[in-house]
Parts: sequence; structure tokens; C-alpha cells
Amino acid sequence: MTLLKIAQIGHPVLRQRAREVSQDELASRETQQFIDDLVETMRDANGAGLAAIQVHNPVRIVAVEVHDNPRYPYKPNIPLTILVNPVLEPLGEERFENYEGCLSVPNLRGVVERWAEIHVTGLNRDGSVFDRMLRGLTAGTFQHECDHLDGVLFIDRVKDPRTLTTWAEFDRYHKQAFVDRIVPFVKKMGG
Ligand code: ZN
Repeated sequence: MTLLKIAQIGHPVLRQRAREVSQDELASRETQQFIDDLVETMRDANGAGLAAIQVHNPVRIVAVEVHDNPRYPYKPNIPLTILVNPVLEPLGEERFENYEGCLSVPNLRGVVERWAEIHVTGLNRDGSVFDRMLRGLTAGTFQHECDHLDGVLFIDRVKDPRTLTTWAEFDRYHKQAFVDRIVPFVKKMGG
């Protein structure tokens, strides 16, 4: 396995639209090896997710996994999920405010609105159909990762730039209020 270099904000690759992956390309040894490296890189960086475009490979593949994540201790666990060519649609009108961060945007967090419930379709890494309803913070994580595939970063969606904060100042001034608000939401949504 190889740890891949994570592109940082300002690198043009993060602003590209990633291209679709064909079934043949997905099944290839190269792509399967790349997916293993993507997962390894995400875990090494303690990310909740990582899009292929963030490691300089502009294809529509994202990895998501939350397992008692130290960066996001309030996030419900998500088993390792590889999603290829995802299509995401909101279910209902409900939105929620999430404090997001990104491995490509060092030491910055900000409040972003996300759909509370979504329907996600696409492919699993073995080429089978992925078709799931996702709710709550888990739905937010998938929206963040899928945004990357269209060259969108979370800061583009921050409505109030005054919510931007470093991680240290988040812990100091914003974390408690956010946790108090988000934990009941996670409970209500079951995700
Ligand atoms: Zn990100």
C-alpha cells in the first residue's frame, strides 16, 4: 500500500469535475489498488472521507469511514464505504447546520447547510449497485465527499464566513455549543 499525497486548497485539481469510471476501469487491478491506497491515506490522515480527486486522481470515487474518529468525536460510526459514480438527491426539505472540516483545507472549519436525508445511488467497488437512504451527519459526510467530485469545497458553501475557525479555536469557543446541538440531532436522525 502507498500513502498518497493530499492536494491542498489552491491546487487546481480540487476545482476540476471528476470523470465517471467505467465498469471495466473499476474492475482493473490498477483501480482496485488505487482504492486500497485511497482508504489507507484516509485512515492515516484520520479523515471521515476522502475523494479520489483529493489525491490528484480526478475520477468519481469516494471513500467514507468513521470509526470513533478523533477529529469528529460526535460523528456516528460509518462502516467503510467505497462509492463510485455517485448520484445524490435530497429527500424532503429538511436541512441542518454542520461544522465541517476537510483534509484539503488545513486547520479551518465552518458552518455549512446540508440536507438531512438523501438518496444515494452509484456503484460499489465490485461494480454492484449501491442504493441507500442516508440520514443526519452521515448524510452530511456523503454530501461533503460528493461535492469534491464537482470541484466544490465546503468553504464554497459557508454562508456566514464569521463561522470560520481554526481547529484549536473551534475546541475552545464553538465545540460545546455544537456538540450540545448536534448530539440530539444525531439521536433523532439515527445517523
Ligand atoms: Zn473534503
